Amino acid sequence: MRRLYIIFNMAKTTKNCSFCGRTETQIDFFIMGQNGAHICNECALQAAEIVKENSVSKTNALKIKKEDVPKPVEIKEFLDQYVIGQNEAKKYLSVAVYNHYKRLMQEKTSDDVEIEKSNIIMVGYTGTGKTLLARTIAKKLHVPFTIVDATVLTEAGYVGEDIESILTRLLQVADYDVKAAERGIVFIDEIDKIARKGDNPSITRDVSGEGVQQGLLKLLEGSVVLVPPQGGRKHPDQKMIAVNTQNILFICGGAFDGIEKKIASRLNTRVVGYNSIMEIEHIDKSNMLQYIAPQDLKSFGLIPEIIGRLPILTYLEPLDRAALKRILTEPKNSIIKQYDKLFKMDQIELIFEDEVLDYIVDKAIEFKLGARGLRSITETIIMDKMYEMPTSQEKKLVIDIDYAKSKIEKANINKLKIA
Ligand code: ADP
Repeated sequence: MRRLYIIFNMAKTTKNCSFCGRTETQIDFFIMGQNGAHICNECALQAAEIVKENSVSKTNALKIKKEDVPKPVEIKEFLDQYVIGQNEAKKYLSVAVYNHYKRLMQEKTSDDVEIEKSNIIMVGYTGTGKTLLARTIAKKLHVPFTIVDATVLTEAGYVGEDIESILTRLLQVADYDVKAAERGIVFIDEIDKIARKGDNPSITRDVSGEGVQQGLLKLLEGSVVLVPPQGGRKHPDQKMIAVNTQNILFICGGAFDGIEKKIASRLNTRVVGYNSIMEIEHIDKSNMLQYIAPQDLKSFGLIPEIIGRLPILTYLEPLDRAALKRILTEPKNSIIKQYDKLFKMDQIELIFEDEVLDYIVDKAIEFKLGARGLRSITETIIMDKMYEMPTSQEKKLVIDIDYAKSKIEKANINKLKIA
């Protein structure tokens, strides 16, 4: 039942807004309650904003039904549709996410067993699928998800973004539904860029290194953080929103360039220590990341407290020729499938000869572009055809090796490298 009435400012009686005190000549209209209280149109708007910001989620964010939670095998199968290889990382992620759900569902029982958060750290060369894994898993989960780049983070008060801005993004994707954001997932990319420079704690101020790690620690540990809803320092008057990070899952990723050396030297010392030649022979030197251990992250410059808060450590494999070729064609939205679709929209059948696919892979390796280069190389080959074909009468386009080579040889290699 409606208990509010609108009064336009035509009455002669003097009324004030019960909130801001302004009179009817200063506002457009009042809304009157049953007991004679008035609120002006402007205060009503403000009140509505406050209600929106602070209301408990209507979606009842914390009620998760057990039967709706995907099992680790299902999560992995879903990842398989989009991400080639990386089985180890996929398994770790699937289990961590499944446990994250269990954690959200856990009820306070008398056994005092509390499931702890399983934040993840993924180590792998750039362009091997870390971000893709995180993005894909988010599609399956229906919880707010955001990607932030650790390189822009600095300690509060320095040029760059404050640590809290990570949560601003999460709030934004959650439509400012605080309860939903509080069970979201944050992917922090390039975590290695905030490593301490050198193995020893620095005496000089390390604006983008250890200080940022300390700040991040607060979020990873689980605490109530005051978050500026618009982010940044451009809006100094904005009202802060309290966000509890206890149930937010953090997935960190980084290339950790050069960490292989730290792994190798640790393995060597150990092997020498045990005086076992056998063990050293078993080490697969082409993929040192598979032996990564928390102490290597420490030698790289992450502080032990951060490492302790990222209990799940996994790695991504370097992508070999075969994997790159599969990436071109196999994932649900592979590059070739995307071009195929683009041409189909003009009723044109597009065929890449198999040799061309090998050629694209070879060039990506030659230019050291990895999986990221596959798109720019393919685009360079096909660009002119995308320009000409929609106005031509031809309904079939075959890209053969001679055509592909002619386009790449003419292309500006540097442009390809930047892409
Ligand atoms: P990273 O975060 O490890 O630097 P990305 O996940 O951003 O790398 O990968 C860049 C692009 O390369 C992705 O968008 C995707 O197109 C492709 N890619 C990389 N690794 C894979 C993979 N394992 N499977 C499928 N595509 C991949």
